[in-house]
Amino acid sequence: GCQGGSCGSEKKSSLANHPCFSPHGHGKTGRIHLPVAPGCNISCGYCVRKFDCANESRPGVTSRVINPEQALWRVEKALAGSMGPYLAVVGIAGPGEPLANPNTFRTLRLVKEKYPHMMLCVSSNGLLLTEKVEELIEIGISHITVTLNSLRPETGAAIYPYVYWKGEKLTGLAAAERLIEQQLKGIEKAAQAGLLVKVNTVVIPGINDEQIEEIAEKVKSLGAAVLNLMPLINQGIFAHLEPPTVTEMTQHRQKVATILPQIAHCRQCRADAIGLI
Ligand code: SF4
Ligand code: SF4
Repeated sequence: GCQGGSCGSEKKSSLANHPCFSPHGHGKTGRIHLPVAPGCNISCGYCVRKFDCANESRPGVTSRVINPEQALWRVEKALAGSMGPYLAVVGIAGPGEPLANPNTFRTLRLVKEKYPHMMLCVSSNGLLLTEKVEELIEIGISHITVTLNSLRPETGAAIYPYVYWKGEKLTGLAAAERLIEQQLKGIEKAAQAGLLVKVNTVVIPGINDEQIEEIAEKVKSLGAAVLNLMPLINQGIFAHLEPPTVTEMTQHRQKVATILPQIAHCRQCRADAIGLI
């Protein structure tokens, strides 16, 4: 049997089973997001903090933050409802940075204890991923999404106004360098540990849209399994930018489709989303 989730066949089947990681998973599997993680350790130019994290969310819709017990209750209710038979994935995607919130780990432990067969998924900006990989594995998380928007510190400095690192507020190039370094290390460590890694990249015209191929090549070399390109939602300091058109997004996806499988059906779901995807 496959232990620990690092063998090829296990990876393949969970790729197919998790609706957000499979190009074909659409409409067959249910997932629920538990909004237990309000705080964030970085600032993204496209994020308006009173809304959900753009990692996996549709910004502009607030979600009420709940505690781990309420979250478990929400899973129980969902399993008892009409989606129950389809519910296969419990994800934590915000509204802030899941790995920076202790309640993320408490919640996932509660869910895994009660429902050992549920797939667990976390979405992250990657800053704390290297130091949390062991704990994620120990709890039984199988899938992680990392939002990575550039490999270049100069570009990162335009996207991230600041990064909190070990109690210090970094800005400019120092902030971007630290974040990118941690994201890349984290993706590699998570993939090596047997987690299925999806990378989300927000396509920001004029900022990182010329860098999509180099991002795809790099994260593939580090072990990422899937790349999900998301169009910018223009708000925050990027309110003045035109989001990429549907045609432009299709072109970007075609360019990198030979490098990594693409997820084109992602709905950038809310931190408190529930349903079939
Ligand atoms: Fe907002 Fe998410 Fe970026 Fe944090 S990581 S600033 S919550 S978009
Ligand atoms: Fe996981 Fe993201 Fe899918 Fe939620 S939307 S289940 S966090 S991959």
